[in-house]
Amino acid sequence: MSFAASERPRHFASDNYAGVCPEVWEALRSADANHSQGYGDDPHTAEARERFRTLFESECEVHFAFNGTAANSLVIAAACAPFQAVICHAYAHIETDESNAPGFFAHGIKTLPIGSPSGKLEPDAVERVFRQRRDIHASEPRVLSLTQSTELGTVYSPEELSSLCQRAHSLGMVVHVDGARFSNAAASLGVSPAELTWKAGVDALCFGGTKNGMLASEAVVFFNQDLARHFKRRCKQAGQLASKMRYHAAQWNGMLSAGAWLRRAQHANEMARLLSDRLRSVPGVRLLQPVEANAVFVDFSPGLAEGLLALGWRFYTDVGPGGARLMCAWNTSREDVEEFVQHAIVTAGAKSAPKSR
Ligand SMILES: *Cc1c(COP(=O)(O)O)cnc(C)c1O
Repeated sequence: MSFAASERPRHFASDNYAGVCPEVWEALRSADANHSQGYGDDPHTAEARERFRTLFESECEVHFAFNGTAANSLVIAAACAPFQAVICHAYAHIETDESNAPGFFAHGIKTLPIGSPSGKLEPDAVERVFRQRRDIHASEPRVLSLTQSTELGTVYSPEELSSLCQRAHSLGMVVHVDGARFSNAAASLGVSPAELTWKAGVDALCFGGTKNGMLASEAVVFFNQDLARHFKRRCKQAGQLASKMRYHAAQWNGMLSAGAWLRRAQHANEMARLLSDRLRSVPGVRLLQPVEANAVFVDFSPGLAEGLLALGWRFYTDVGPGGARLMCAWNTSREDVEEFVQHAIVTAGAKSAPKSR
């Protein structure tokens, strides 16, 4: 049986294919009740900021952006002078998926990408790049940018984060975390948000909401208050200061109030584990990365990806080092996983049939 893509209710292309979860819709509705002040001077925003401080067990300054590209870029702009640079992974979103936005918001800066098969950076590799020729003619690294969970679906442990942050700080850099999937990392590691951020030495976190079931909101959380200076102005200048900011805040209040942010991410991770477990036994499918969050990277034997795409499934085949990326979301169902795997088995069988005698 063949489906047009539009007939399939759910896909494995990206967690932003998934819609908005009920907790968020409900919270958005509740913010409709009364008139309220604009630009963040309202009770919903005050409540959200307090919830972040409770969640992170720390004083922190919180702002909101409509997407991750703006959140990342504005943090980098807040940290860097025009002649400075950002050390990041070669597959980092800021490097490969933001249309040069960091350099647009922070004129003159550049990224210094480092490759590694796991999607993760290591302190020695960071220091090597830092210590390349750094005279007046070269650029000066100022930010270490880490992605948690990584673009390859792996996660940094608190210990790994600590040693990276320590090294970065000892070299005079600050640490930014692109946490578009921070919730998935926290769910995977089962440690507190504090341990994955300021306790490890992280200076600023872009805490993703959109991919975890929110309509459109990313929180920028500053643990290092020096970096937050003028940030509200930066948001305004960049067109990111929401006039009805209470609707950013309401989404977060919905997600943070009863632990939905973690529960939704746990579910996505669980579906990724199930998918990888099932795919392991399908001929012609090879896992490319350990499944530590909500992404499954696989190598499909020739024709298998095409066969699945022809059955109406959507997934990316051009992320990172190649292979197929299968991304699970807050509302990926067990049935979706089983049906996809069933189709993979049938497609793999059909392809290998002519070879068997
Ligand atoms: C999705 C994503 C972002 C944010 O992307 P936007 O489209 O700008 O919201 C940032 N970093 C990573 C790693 C992502 O996967």
